[in-house]
Amino acid sequence: MRIILLGPPGGGKGTQGDFLVKRTGFPRISTGDLLRQAVQEGTALGREAEAAMKQGGLVRDEIVLDLVRERISRPDCRGGYVLDGYPRTLSQAKDVEALDPDRPEIVVAIDVSAEEIVRRLASRRSCPDCGAVFNLIVRKPAREGVCDACRGTLAGREDDRPEIVRERLRVYAEKTEPLLAYYAKKGTLHRVDGEKGMDATAAAIREILDAALGAGRTGARG
Ligand code: ADP
Repeated sequence: MRIILLGPPGGGKGTQGDFLVKRTGFPRISTGDLLRQAVQEGTALGREAEAAMKQGGLVRDEIVLDLVRERISRPDCRGGYVLDGYPRTLSQAKDVEALDPDRPEIVVAIDVSAEEIVRRLASRRSCPDCGAVFNLIVRKPAREGVCDACRGTLAGREDDRPEIVRERLRVYAEKTEPLLAYYAKKGTLHRVDGEKGMDATAAAIREILDAALGAGRTGARG
């Protein structure tokens, strides 16, 4: 099974991705995390990615594809995986199908309005050491400014500044939103309301997942 999480930046893909990992045992693959790691390592690829990310633009399809190809070839992805932040363009959607054509797919699109995104990202904090994500309003760390997981010092992400967030939302509307129609047509799209709170969203996703896995099992028997 390939589970694709679709939705605007700050829409809760990471949070719901973690929920899916617990529920399925599949690894979560976040292209944002893979890219930030490449940036930190200071590779040539990382330097090119950094320029695009800083401005709120997208990194070239070829670069992201290489990262995803390598990641899903690892043994822990054999049973399935959760893609968070990938695909983000129509050509990436075709890339992932070509990479792994026979895998059953479900797409979960999390719907959140632009106003809500701007509000959420302004209060988002993350741990530069382990990547854990917090929110000063809805997902507070136990100790202010300190990562619950590794005790690192929390910081706002540079690309969460309001002017960059606006650009990321613009890019989302232009490049990523067309994927909703693409997957609707393909028949793999499921939409959930991302503004009802973390638990309600997770419950909605669980239903979709159970229905899909149930159908998969029936299919395997028949
Ligand atoms: P968010 O979903 O909150 O925008 P991510 O951590 O997923 O944050 O991504 C951060 C940045 O990394 C994006 O703004 C973009 O520059 C780059 N990026 C992540 N995934 C992709 C992708 N699939 N294609 C191109 N660029 C990407």
